[in-house]
Amino acid sequence: MTASISRHFSLTYGEARKKFLDAAKEAGAKISHHQNTDANGPLGEPLYTDVARLGAAPGAARGMLFINSGTHGIEGYCGSGCQVAALREDMFVNLPTDVAVVLTHAVNPYGFCWGRRTNEDNIDLNRNCLDHDAQHPDDSKYSEIHPLLCPADLMDKKADYDAKIFEWIGVHGMDAFQEAVSSGQYSYPDGLFYGGRAPAWSSATWQNTLAAHSAGTKKAVLVDVHTGLGPSGIGELIGCGDAGQVDNAGSIWGADDVTSLHAGTSSSAEVRGDMTSLFFAAVPEAWTAAVALEYGTLELIEVLEGLRQENWLHHHGDRESALGKELEAKCRAAFYTETDEWKQMIWTRAHEVIGKALSTIAA
Ligand SMILES: [Zn+2]
Repeated sequence: MTASISRHFSLTYGEARKKFLDAAKEAGAKISHHQNTDANGPLGEPLYTDVARLGAAPGAARGMLFINSGTHGIEGYCGSGCQVAALREDMFVNLPTDVAVVLTHAVNPYGFCWGRRTNEDNIDLNRNCLDHDAQHPDDSKYSEIHPLLCPADLMDKKADYDAKIFEWIGVHGMDAFQEAVSSGQYSYPDGLFYGGRAPAWSSATWQNTLAAHSAGTKKAVLVDVHTGLGPSGIGELIGCGDAGQVDNAGSIWGADDVTSLHAGTSSSAEVRGDMTSLFFAAVPEAWTAAVALEYGTLELIEVLEGLRQENWLHHHGDRESALGKELEAKCRAAFYTETDEWKQMIWTRAHEVIGKALSTIAA
């Protein structure tokens, strides 16, 4: 069993894309390709978000399930594996005639291909989907620590900067640190968890995908696969949207199995401008539920360090150097665990989560 699980997962974006397209074709999906012409991969390769639809045609689906991978680029290794496994294990055959499933592969193909969590403009897509004409959220706490997190000479004076960060944590606490770092900032384009100043290509592509596919739906569910938070291999269901929408998620997967950002039960800090807000906006008349299926990898502090050092590498370092390769590997380990045991846990949980979502939209 475990020996075969790795075949659904990939070592590169290109391999993942091929597996996804082959599996979707084999399953009889209608497929569309969306090229991000703003960027290429490290070898000059073109970057695509691919969308596969199974079941009822647009306009004819009363119940819809959306499953997304790679919103956070490098986290797509996990989400792509789940999508490929679900296709290959025939989870979407024999759907009721008024049900459709839409799989969006590599929402952020740049980050997936380059091994980054962010897009081609260093934007975190789950901080990008808000009204950029309005006042951006307050990021003054981030401003206090940005010079310690992302200095140009980070790798020369790391111990000094770390000591100052621990001082800050000593005063404010670890939760406040996570909140300040990761809730989203709009002032430092070279910083961490940067939300951008305008809608990103991936956000617009996701919005267009929703518009093209969601017409007529009465019940819509979104599962967006992520990694990097919580205990290793455990898939936390983070309920998104307002309290009623979180309750809807609870009715699918069990109230005890869905955490809430607002209630403080999630391993994630509260964030603004995430991609699920576009989903809710696209189907205002429908019964809706959306979750981030968030799989743990390493300890939070290691994940943040992996991100921070990769961010330094991207802006100030050399990817071809020995240090560059080391930091790339460190970042990858923060968002993907290369063991059969971990992948088996991922897929077992994804299978359960997708199965319950399918039962709900078919009911
Ligand atoms: Zn993520």
